[in-house]
Amino acid sequence: MSRSPVWHPFHQHGLGEPIPLVERAEGALLHTADGRAVVDAISSWWVTTHGHNHPRIVAAIRQQAERLDQLIFAGWTHEPAEELARGLTAIMPPALEYVFFSDSGSTAVEVALKMALGFWANRGAARHRILVLEHSYHGDTIGAMSVGARGVFNRPYAPLLFAVDTIPFPAAGAEQATLDALEAACARGDAAAFIVEPLVLGAGGMLMYSPAILRQMREICSRHDVLFIADEVMTGWGRTGSLIACEQAGVVPDIMCLAKGLTGGSMPLAVTMASAPIYDAHLSTDRSRMFFHSSSFTANPIACAAANANLAIWREEPVLERVAALVAAEAKGMDALAAKHGLQNLRQCGSVIAADVPVADAGYLADLGPRMRDGFYARDVLLRPLGNTIYLMPPFCISEQQLTCIFTAIDEVLSEAL
Ligand SMILES: *Cc1c(COP(=O)(O)O)cnc(C)c1O
Repeated sequence: MSRSPVWHPFHQHGLGEPIPLVERAEGALLHTADGRAVVDAISSWWVTTHGHNHPRIVAAIRQQAERLDQLIFAGWTHEPAEELARGLTAIMPPALEYVFFSDSGSTAVEVALKMALGFWANRGAARHRILVLEHSYHGDTIGAMSVGARGVFNRPYAPLLFAVDTIPFPAAGAEQATLDALEAACARGDAAAFIVEPLVLGAGGMLMYSPAILRQMREICSRHDVLFIADEVMTGWGRTGSLIACEQAGVVPDIMCLAKGLTGGSMPLAVTMASAPIYDAHLSTDRSRMFFHSSSFTANPIACAAANANLAIWREEPVLERVAALVAAEAKGMDALAAKHGLQNLRQCGSVIAADVPVADAGYLADLGPRMRDGFYARDVLLRPLGNTIYLMPPFCISEQQLTCIFTAIDEVLSEAL
């Protein structure tokens, strides 16, 4: 076979690692061209919530594709988008009254940042600094990288990244330092917004902090009129045990980003939800004050139909009960593995569970991660450790038997690796 012209993301082609070809999927299983059934333990990179090819979502996509495939969204509209906006405002915090569509988590973050800057600019206030949490990840476009952790992922692009104020991560026992730093940064008076991943910092290594801290961070921002942006791209749609993570802290953000599980993980779609003051700051008879952002596929009707089917599943099926059952099963399996192999920092927030393999070289580029990944794949499990951090984030439909396959694979791989 000749070499594929496909250039894969986050993949070093020079290492010649094999690239599995997947032909179809259902539930928590990926079926490869060479006849294997692989358990998708990370929801195809955190997107698949109810399971692959959920029949209701598939049917909605099929029906919408026959009716209206795509439409300019600047000044035009269609029922799937209207229905979705109504559905979202009905289940998300009531203060988030407006829904702006885009097509990926990174874009939803860019939109949130532009909304925050636009809000202050239209009010004639000189606030442009963005406050961020240490170890954050918000996407790979230039703006999203700017508000994320600096590291090997973005070193070549650093000259283009804008400056932000980084608030230390609220590690257990060091929370006061976080709150003090946030207070000081807010008090300077030039901060437009603080962007956070609520409760779980995903790509930063599945780092977790308490709802109480999230709530206190929100309160500090409110006190200083600094806009609070919740990036719920990964934490939304049940991952943390509630519809959105902010709910557990009683926090209502000014702006909230949703993507990944918005369509149940079936189609690329994102929204940035905003409170009335954000929308109103752009509301005028003056065209120069409108919100200047669009992309070709804004609110694509087929993607919106998939998201509407996701919302119907949330309304009509016991999604959070499924998550709760998964939470318990994951805890049991990982507890046993942590005890047997001396895994450190076992932590869980809803269906996201993680633990660190005790090794000296723990960096993202260390050899251990890819070696473990290959070991998991050899055992028909898709797991992709972040450095020395092994984590599970399976679709909610995963069976006990499939979970057992994952735990057995981790057990064997750790026995080999350690
Ligand atoms: C994945 C992710 C993003 C980026 O979403 P994409 O759809 O990959 O652009 C942003 N924020 C968080 C918290 C994420 O986990």
